[in-house]
Amino acid sequence: MIPWQLGMQGNAAMYSNAHVWMQTFDCCGAAAEALHRDFLRRLLGVRMSTANHMVLAELGRLPLQVHFWQQILRYHHRTIALDNVRLVKLAMVDGFALHQTAVKDSWQHYLGDFLHGHLGQQQLFHNFDVASVIERAKHQHAFEYFADVQHSSLMLYRTMQPEYKSAEYLSVVKCASNRRLISRFRTGCHGLRVDTGRWADGVHLDRTDRLCLVCKSLDCVEDEQHFVFDCPAYSHIRSQHLDLLQHCCTIADFMILCEPNACAGFLWECFACRKQILSV
Ligand SMILES: [Zn+2]
Repeated sequence: MIPWQLGMQGNAAMYSNAHVWMQTFDCCGAAAEALHRDFLRRLLGVRMSTANHMVLAELGRLPLQVHFWQQILRYHHRTIALDNVRLVKLAMVDGFALHQTAVKDSWQHYLGDFLHGHLGQQQLFHNFDVASVIERAKHQHAFEYFADVQHSSLMLYRTMQPEYKSAEYLSVVKCASNRRLISRFRTGCHGLRVDTGRWADGVHLDRTDRLCLVCKSLDCVEDEQHFVFDCPAYSHIRSQHLDLLQHCCTIADFMILCEPNACAGFLWECFACRKQILSV
């Protein structure tokens, strides 16, 4: 079993009985989301500061909240199907009535807002289609991933991950260290100067000042494109991987068109060469 399949089982445990602890949604839900994302970061081997959208999209995962809602909506449906004299049903009806008059920070309040947002009208106590509501929530999350313009690191990443699904290399590359190398490279946690120039030595360099120290360029930023295709320091490595690189000219091509194990081998060689040059 591969690690993220284990993660799926962990997910089921985390959102079990969500309809019970949903009453403390703000604290429990947020903490569970953070735990979930940190777990995924450790699976991928990326930095703990890697953007949330990137971590979830790399594995094709959704926020736990979507699964919480699914549990809660099913609970809602099971409860409204009960006889009107059943205590649990009476308690839920009273809970919603109370929410409308006084309690604004309750799970009933969140449920009302959620249904209003996804169905366009209040659907409490109606037998709506849970699957279609959850499907809308999934599409909404994917839409937010593609529309996020707050994180500049997502601009390049989205060219490598144009669809919201688990990245192919995760199932193709069996070697864990090779998989982590690709994960770090795709998510920008690779240690090139375009990455380290943001925070190394406590100094934030403008992007245009994060120049390549390997070829000592006076005007080339050491970014992914320069590293894979342009830096003259790795020309001898590229010449040994012509089959890999001949059909691509962008990082997106490199990650989408090239065989992932071969990509990992090429990256290892370049990073080893880089380390050797910079250590002299
Ligand atoms: Zn260079």
